[in-house]
Amino acid sequence: MFEKILIANRGEIALRVIRACREMGIKSVAVHSTADSDAMHVRMADEAICIGPAPSVDSYLHMAAIISACEISGAQAIHPGYGFLSENANFVQMVEDHDLTFIGPRAEHIRQMGDKITAKETAKALGIPVVPGSEGGVPDLETAKKVAGGMGYPVIIKATAGGGGRGMKVAKSETELEMAFRTARSEAKAAFGNDEVYIEKYLQKPRHIEIQVFGDGKGGAVHLGERDCSLQRRHQKVLEEAPGPVITAEQRAWIGKVCADAIGKMQYAGAGTIEFLFEDGEFYFIEMNTRLQVEHPVTEAIFGVDLVREQIRVAAGNSLSFRQEDLQVLGHSIEVRINAERLPNFAPCPGMVNTFHAPGGLGVRMDSALYGGYRIPPYYDSLIGKLIVHGRDRPEALARLKRALGELIIDGIDTTVPLFFALLENEDVLSGNYDIHWLEKFLAAELG
Ligand code: ADP
Repeated sequence: MFEKILIANRGEIALRVIRACREMGIKSVAVHSTADSDAMHVRMADEAICIGPAPSVDSYLHMAAIISACEISGAQAIHPGYGFLSENANFVQMVEDHDLTFIGPRAEHIRQMGDKITAKETAKALGIPVVPGSEGGVPDLETAKKVAGGMGYPVIIKATAGGGGRGMKVAKSETELEMAFRTARSEAKAAFGNDEVYIEKYLQKPRHIEIQVFGDGKGGAVHLGERDCSLQRRHQKVLEEAPGPVITAEQRAWIGKVCADAIGKMQYAGAGTIEFLFEDGEFYFIEMNTRLQVEHPVTEAIFGVDLVREQIRVAAGNSLSFRQEDLQVLGHSIEVRINAERLPNFAPCPGMVNTFHAPGGLGVRMDSALYGGYRIPPYYDSLIGKLIVHGRDRPEALARLKRALGELIIDGIDTTVPLFFALLENEDVLSGNYDIHWLEKFLAAELG
């Protein structure tokens, strides 16, 4: 096992990894920018190294500085968290070239899943159901018209190199297609330097259902059920829950096995998430994330396992510590993402946190790097905490979430907490009756 791990991240996810390391008796090394000298991850780790100035490109994305920090501290492995370098195949290569271990999948799998057309072709070949659409990239408008006409409108045009919801355009008719095709291509070119696009059938009322998978890198693989992440704003998840309110045990077992078999065949190593749209009882693959997800705690809650510990164990060459039959769903878990943002426009709202009080009690987990007297810097993501609750069933989890939100105090800045109080009063949320467009409509109606 590793003696020392460097965490190439900040905020709550850096704390999450430090906690797993400490329980495993592994020393942790934090890296930070000059803007993060007072950050909690710096205080909590066994060692901390400043790797550059505030902008991420000069610090948390600065590969050479991170490798140097490993060499200076004697860390043998790097945990990338999520975001930043977590899905950068070139970084993985660099880590390996320096005889260090990347805690995550191999570079080839990150590359395969980073390109959406390759990802979809790989998924299809492995028996995973995909959204009907073009065979690979669509080179010109004539082909686009043919593909869309054959499939029927509405369609969605997506960038091959896409991510973060950019370069996607919906067309409801052939007239709209021309415009949508051109804008999708130019947006893709501007955002990713690659204007290749492909076409998919546009699903009208799907839910976002994702399957957590885990591979040992040698063909062994399990699934840890689904998370429903349909409550989204601008394609960003806001609230996630497990199990999914509309997924049956049979559906879970079926899609879970399809996913586990697929990553077993790939000899995939570590944690991964296979994302689907789910409509009328059918699953349609959209992408695979080759890292730990923000919302992983809801899965940890219902299965009672530590996914970060498992990532570290697998990276050190151990086999999985659980078999499929050991993994039984227990109760229901919900996570809300608390952002430093001002409603109704969700404008970023960094600044001084005067008081921070985390909720507690049975079934409550608060993952946050806040503390009273901490100044949130303006340079990074606005996620400042995740509140995760676990109950015997969904109504108990909902009641617990409301109770815990009532105990939470974040004083000095605006946060998205009021949105969750509003959601917990809503019939559709209480009954689990929502799709991926529900939250945008709710926000337009409630907040104007
Ligand atoms: P990105 O990597 O940019 O986030 P995804 O492929 O994961 O792109 O899609 C992001 C979101 O866009 C999905 O969660 C869903 O809300 C919407 N979306 C993507 N493909 C479709 C589709 N075929 N039909 C309807 N909505 C879609």
